[in-house]
Amino acid sequence: MSDEEAERTFRNVRWAATSGDPVCPRCGGLDAYDCRRPNGASRFRCRACGKDFSVTSGTIFASHKLPLKAYLAAIAIFINEVKGKAALALSRDLGLSYKAAFVLAHKLRESMAAEIKGRMIGGDGEEASIDGAYFGGYVKPSNLRENRRDRRLIENRTGKRQVVVIIRQHGGDSIPSVFRSEAAALGFIRAHVRPGTVVNADEASSWDALHARFEMKRIDHGQAYSLDGACTNWAETYFSRLRRGEIGHHHHISGPYLVRYAQEAAFREDARRVANGEQVGRVAELAMASKPSVDFCGYWQRHKAA
Ligand SMILES: [Zn+2]
Repeated sequence: MSDEEAERTFRNVRWAATSGDPVCPRCGGLDAYDCRRPNGASRFRCRACGKDFSVTSGTIFASHKLPLKAYLAAIAIFINEVKGKAALALSRDLGLSYKAAFVLAHKLRESMAAEIKGRMIGGDGEEASIDGAYFGGYVKPSNLRENRRDRRLIENRTGKRQVVVIIRQHGGDSIPSVFRSEAAALGFIRAHVRPGTVVNADEASSWDALHARFEMKRIDHGQAYSLDGACTNWAETYFSRLRRGEIGHHHHISGPYLVRYAQEAAFREDARRVANGEQVGRVAELAMASKPSVDFCGYWQRHKAA
């Protein structure tokens, strides 16, 4: 694909209402003329207000450095994976530095997350599953036996362990988030699950408080994984994908970006039966509709720590 074709694709996605004709992001004017940069990069100038803008201005790819076709290729490569794409592999595929690939992948995750924003789960006659899984805070045992400590004790832990909590509608979509503990997720669950939903949960006492709000089906995993119609298998499949992405591709997903990996896994899980090309189009659309990155704007200028 040439860069002109990539530009045309992004224009059609961003300005779908005008069939790809530029719309000024400042005044909404439709009368802009092509005013390319000397290096041939896309730029328009608004006749109404004089503002210069490009097809990526104000989007997640704002101030982009790579040719536009690299971003389309990145989306296609990223989507093609089922459990995640390692930043190092992406950097090799695209001929980028590791760091550039890492930031690019996170911008795609941020775009995917826009799909989840404002989502609600369930409703009358619907069922949902909730569950939590722990990530991070691994303490490596010391080499010599006499230096090893009991890693089950709180004082020997790192305090960096976090729990991803997923709400997943049976046969439907998911919402993930990250907390210090399952009990801290109750407000999040109440805010995102519609009244009237039957909520499936395991035997963990952290969920007991939800009985006051929802009809609950509890399953004791010590006894069975599915019994009398109660199971959290919809949540388990989500964690299966996220965990395999962690072990097989990323190796390290805990820390400040854990929620982004969790959102990526939710997108992949919910779209698992959607055709590949359609998913690429969807992520391109989300990227064009997303504001400049909240995680990485200013990252290269070191305004923000990694
Ligand atoms: Zn304008």
